[in-house]
Amino acid sequence: MNIEEIRKEFPILEQKVNGKPLVYLDNGATAQKPSIVIHTIDQYYKEYNSNIHRGVHHLSQLATTQYEESRSTIQKFINAKYSHEVIFTTGTTGGINLVANSFGKQFLNRGDEVLISAMEHHSNIVPWQMICEEKGAVLKVIPINEKGELIYEEFLRLLSEKTRILAVAHISNTLGTINPVKKMIKEAHKAGAKVLIDAAQSVPHCQVDVQDLDCDFLVFSAHKMFGPTGVGILYGKEEMLNAMPPYQGGGDMIKEVTFEKTTYNSLPHKFEAGTPNIAGGIATAEAILFMNQVGFDFIECQEKELLEYATEQLLKIEGLRIIGTAENKASVISFLVDNTHPFDVGTLLDQMGVAVRTGHHCTQPLMDFYGIPGTIRASFAFYNTKEEVDVFIAALKKAVMMLS
Ligand code: PMP
Repeated sequence: MNIEEIRKEFPILEQKVNGKPLVYLDNGATAQKPSIVIHTIDQYYKEYNSNIHRGVHHLSQLATTQYEESRSTIQKFINAKYSHEVIFTTGTTGGINLVANSFGKQFLNRGDEVLISAMEHHSNIVPWQMICEEKGAVLKVIPINEKGELIYEEFLRLLSEKTRILAVAHISNTLGTINPVKKMIKEAHKAGAKVLIDAAQSVPHCQVDVQDLDCDFLVFSAHKMFGPTGVGILYGKEEMLNAMPPYQGGGDMIKEVTFEKTTYNSLPHKFEAGTPNIAGGIATAEAILFMNQVGFDFIECQEKELLEYATEQLLKIEGLRIIGTAENKASVISFLVDNTHPFDVGTLLDQMGVAVRTGHHCTQPLMDFYGIPGTIRASFAFYNTKEEVDVFIAALKKAVMMLS
């Protein structure tokens, strides 16, 4: 597919916002959905809506088959060894809360340490803070340099026999920094720690292989990779998931229930209590198949070009400062312009049809590090074009002129 063909698959991109053609540069928050994903959700409710895993009737079996096929598609997508290592959750946040609570309950004790980084999203900070507080464990933070890169020597220094788990973003949603997670996982394992990778921002942009990374857990959200909201994936190594207690109790996660004692279902159901987002789970596979069709060669190439071109154009604007200048960076650009507030710039850009995000991007400690209240963030997907970057830059220049 070429770029015109790709864009045609995303009906939302054809619309006008405030009388101007939409330029959607808020992909870090959520990505748009191709027609096949929208159609799959529609078809589920029109043709075979029913509950999974429990029905003997035709519709239930159809829905169960589709849902479990989706699990297998996800397994192949991240190259997990077994499909039962793929747990459906509600999102990245849901996956991290599951691991923090379940792993934390089983393996965290007073004085143990949890290691995160200074660039984490709130959802990879707060669940760990909560479980550390409960267990008397200590949360340690790997610092970053001015460019927004992890200080690797500090990571090595903080890693110790007390570290039970390292939980770190593959790619920062605010800075675009790509962290050297493979190296870090190896080091963490040497120290006897387990590793959770927050892949919310990496899975839509590059091929992620859990066996190659050798991470113990990997979490991501379907909605950031062109799938529906309300669906997330937790990958966990079989041995880890088997060693952990269930997170939530309810239907589907049990083997046998009596008032005296309940035994639990095997993986993956042990961690999937209650009726899930069935349509969303099924449609997630379609998002993956669509990405495969586009291909990661195209995705990476297109996004690299957009990142380089937009960075070059932005830096020509007087008083503009990019926050996050890591050597190894994904297609996310956070910036500030002298004498303007991000919120005002974002509002004016919206009036010109350009959707960007403004604020702290759920990374308040990172904003504190830079001593800023927030940034303007443009984040690109493979369906964005250089022409859209031109529209964005022209609109930005106009907004800055109006505000100064
Ligand atoms: N981690 C990162 C790096 C993210 O970018 C996000 C979403 N902005 C999350 C976690 C949380 O994802 P969700 O809200 O889909 O659970």
